[in-house]
Amino acid sequence: MKEGIEPLVNDEFAGEPPTKRCLAYLQTQREKGKHVVGIYCGYAPMEVIRAADMVPSVLCAFDDKTIAAGEEVLPANLCPLIKSSYGFIKTDTCPFYALSEAVIAETTCDGKKKMFELIADIKPTHVMDLPQLPDQKEAQDNWTTMIRKLAGFLETTFKTKISDDRVEQEIKNANLRNKLLNQVFDFAALPSMPLTWQEVYDLTYFGQVATTKDMLPILESALATLQKRVADGVYHGEKDSPRVLVTGCPVGGDATKIFKIIEAAGGVIVYLDSCTGMKAYAGHFEEGAPDPYRSVSRRYLEVPCSCMTPNDRRLSELDIIINKFRPDVIIDVVLHACHSYNIESSKVKTHVETIHKKPFLRIETDYSQSDVGQIRTRVEALLEMVPKK
Ligand code: SF4
Ligand code: SF4
Repeated sequence: MKEGIEPLVNDEFAGEPPTKRCLAYLQTQREKGKHVVGIYCGYAPMEVIRAADMVPSVLCAFDDKTIAAGEEVLPANLCPLIKSSYGFIKTDTCPFYALSEAVIAETTCDGKKKMFELIADIKPTHVMDLPQLPDQKEAQDNWTTMIRKLAGFLETTFKTKISDDRVEQEIKNANLRNKLLNQVFDFAALPSMPLTWQEVYDLTYFGQVATTKDMLPILESALATLQKRVADGVYHGEKDSPRVLVTGCPVGGDATKIFKIIEAAGGVIVYLDSCTGMKAYAGHFEEGAPDPYRSVSRRYLEVPCSCMTPNDRRLSELDIIINKFRPDVIIDVVLHACHSYNIESSKVKTHVETIHKKPFLRIETDYSQSDVGQIRTRVEALLEMVPKK
């Protein structure tokens, strides 16, 4: 946002990396006696963790500096997210892992599930068998069973009880938080964007950790600030900046170089379609279902991750996003050696080029700075294709 504009959330953490706010929050929760549980993935059923009165802690996975330590054990030609995650654990430098008393993991891609084996003996690590044919009836049944097993793991490990009523309450809390977060995202659909990708990223990051009760004042303040920005004619970028939708692999930490390049090239990012962005808040949990665990299961199986097959929901979600946020171009970010997102990229390209007639660019990258010049050239060429408004 331009100099002198009031931050979206005007508190002591304004302008700081989002990890700082999260870490301070988790430390306070631990001091209050709450248990902290580490998570790595968009399939971690947060509502069950919260129903146990525990706090999810998003573990570090986005720093180039831990890759070398990761590569001492893992193959170099593995996704940087996995190498960085493992490197953090190996070098004991992830403060979120240090605070966590257990880790919840899911069988998403091969690299991740094998990495979990390597860390399973450090802290209690509960691996959930994620069905990968999400539209089949058995997937619903099996994932519901896995979510119930997670509840059993938390109950046994932390000697607690999780009632169905508490799960139902967390479903309602998640729906309320998602509704308010989506009201914030809606401002990015305006012709002139009154918020930045960094502001969206910070909110979505904190939303993974904080309870809805603790998020409410932040979201209400953000909505009031956005309304004021619109009333005052404050916007990000230029009035005719090319609008960019970024989809694909999770992008955080050192990988946010992509977002910075897009902005430096004159684009504004109107939607972050990944698990580190708005994707985690796109769905809705059925309230008052006969079995709240099944409601949680249904919602998570709708997450359109490339580990699913077929993953047609990714394309239908993109249709909704494109129609609402009206990007001029689509950039698909694929982390090195992420085969599922890489292969799926050709489907996404065909879809957005033929159905939406939008220019598309796939960027394959890691966490290093070595490809910044080359990416900048490609992004600049893409944005030059956008006709002046
Ligand atoms: S992209 Fe898939 S595997 Fe990665 S965090 Fe999201 S849901 Fe999990
Ligand atoms: S980016 Fe791809 S390879 Fe890396 S952890 Fe996620 S799904 Fe696995």
